[in-house]
Amino acid sequence: MSDSELKYVNDVFEKNWIAPVGPHISKFEEILSKKHENYSVAALNSGTSAIHLSLILLGVKSGDDVLCSSFTFAATANPIKYIGANPIFIDSEYDTWNMCPELLEKAIKERIEIGKKPKAIVLVHLYGMPAKIDEILDVSNKFDIPVIEDAAEALGSTYKKKNTGTFGEFGVFSFNGNKIITTSGGGALISKNKKFISKAKYLSTQARDDKPHYEHSEIGYNYRLSNVCAAIGIGQMEVLSSRVEKKRYINKFYKKYLSCIDEIKFLEENENNFSNFWLTTIVINEKSKVKNEDIRLYLESLNIESRPLWKPMHLQPVFRSSKSYTNNTSDDLFQRGLCLPSGTNMSDEEINTVVLAIKKLYAK
Ligand SMILES: *Cc1c(COP(=O)(O)O)cnc(C)c1O
Repeated sequence: MSDSELKYVNDVFEKNWIAPVGPHISKFEEILSKKHENYSVAALNSGTSAIHLSLILLGVKSGDDVLCSSFTFAATANPIKYIGANPIFIDSEYDTWNMCPELLEKAIKERIEIGKKPKAIVLVHLYGMPAKIDEILDVSNKFDIPVIEDAAEALGSTYKKKNTGTFGEFGVFSFNGNKIITTSGGGALISKNKKFISKAKYLSTQARDDKPHYEHSEIGYNYRLSNVCAAIGIGQMEVLSSRVEKKRYINKFYKKYLSCIDEIKFLEENENNFSNFWLTTIVINEKSKVKNEDIRLYLESLNIESRPLWKPMHLQPVFRSSKSYTNNTSDDLFQRGLCLPSGTNMSDEEINTVVLAIKKLYAK
């Protein structure tokens, strides 16, 4: 937290707006909207619920197919299953580690050939790195299949100077405790389409019809953000740009002092991308004697936590029976990669401790 969140939370308590309704929710939505091309925003209780609602709003039904990035956190794909739809996982390309546009097109063509055109594409910007958005949108437009951008890890990232989350039919953000800013738990769904977002707000508050009594014509959800959490979000949005700056500083620091080790490569921006570098991630050369797991275990012995990269969805037991289009990229990255400590409260000394530990391993 920064200095101002408590001020806004105190304001909530003074006005007694302790509910999934209240002025701070609207204020938080307004701030998010300003940051994102004045798109409409629905503040929700998680990024997962935002993905779930986006699929419902696009009319995805039980038995439908939905294309989805394989290299991601399970929350991207789980909502597809909530609906009873079938995820079809698409592997990555090495440049951004995100969905490979060629594989996506191949998958769509094959599915259309057998008479089963997919209903949506869930595109992730993993670790804050924007995907190959133009190429993905070209495919999406060619076959008229809408894109949901899972920008849960990419708040503050841009592609060709425009914010991630503003390219698809929907953008999804998360304010979970581990994300670049947090409301303890929370999320947002954004869209250029106002009608979609007002429907999202209606569905997220139990789909109550406009009647004095409680009348329901549709199944609803309890997915609205709490006003207390929204107040935290208002304060957090004030520090988003400084958090992005710090994440990028940490990334630069690691790169500067570790790039002398030939065996270590970083996930780097291409000319279109500005990443929030939510996490600094590395991959270890396959010929290296010191493996990613050696680094992780050594850091752990020093009481420093680092983590493997996300295990791709097409390798997860729970999605065993789901279709996938693979090219070995995410599998390979998972085998060789590592997330380095990237918390914005890290001091130079702490980052340097990680650097020195890794250097020591490679000097042996
Ligand atoms: C965190 C995350 C989500 C889910 O967000 P929650 O707010 O935790 O539900 C979805 N996708 C990705 C890629 C994430 O990292």
